[in-house]
Amino acid sequence: MREMHLVDIGINLTHDSYDADRDAVLARARAVGVRQMVVTGASLAGNDKAIALAAAAPKELRATAGVHPHHATELTPDNRARLRQQARHPAVAAVGECGLDYFRDFSPRDAQRQAFEWQLELAGELQKPVFLHQRDAGEDFLAILRQRRGRIGAAVVHCFTDDLSLARRCLDLDLHIGITGWFCDERRGRHLHDVVRIIPAGRLMIETDGPYLLPRDLQPRPASRRNEPAYLPHIAAAVAAARQESLEELAQHTTQTAQAFFHLPAL
Ligand SMILES: [Zn+2]
Repeated sequence: MREMHLVDIGINLTHDSYDADRDAVLARARAVGVRQMVVTGASLAGNDKAIALAAAAPKELRATAGVHPHHATELTPDNRARLRQQARHPAVAAVGECGLDYFRDFSPRDAQRQAFEWQLELAGELQKPVFLHQRDAGEDFLAILRQRRGRIGAAVVHCFTDDLSLARRCLDLDLHIGITGWFCDERRGRHLHDVVRIIPAGRLMIETDGPYLLPRDLQPRPASRRNEPAYLPHIAAAVAAARQESLEELAQHTTQTAQAFFHLPAL
């Protein structure tokens, strides 16, 4: 029997909460079968760190390079050249995270839309997949994607938390969907049980989004409240149960999907 392994497609491994024990975090992930990870880049400074981590471990790690909607005002004309340079790096598997966040509104909405549109153009130009973020901005998000869908390749809506109708509309646009430990929250993740049932194998991937979004039902609960890739099997098991699949089946297709999507090396 082939050994089960998982891919964490969204881990903020450059976060300073991992500075003291990053190697131990990776070792714990490996020990439970989380063999490959995509390190999220969300700002120009963060992209450089994500690229350095990924370049040092090319079999195990890839990076994304992008500007999160929270940092949209960072994307001045000069900085666009810098992001293009980062995104071209061979350790960068996708452009992003990029998108819209009207929940926090840390950047003005018109700046968010411009930064998002520009990064979609960049992904098309570089022929790299896109790592998407969306919160409370579903209509604008879909409208922008719909206009450019023909010019970009594969794209994943990471940390999907919306309802069934938005999930259907994302799938209609041929987008992939990433599910985090939000799924395990009995108060605000219940509706995602219906969402994961309509995502066909080949469109679904899983992620921790660590150090954020520690699964609420994790036992024992780490005192630090920090999430990490070693908890991905917990999320995978919950999603598999909702889909009436075995953990092995879910691992098999989500890993195959992630490897194809991010062009990860074979293990
Ligand atoms: Zn995000």
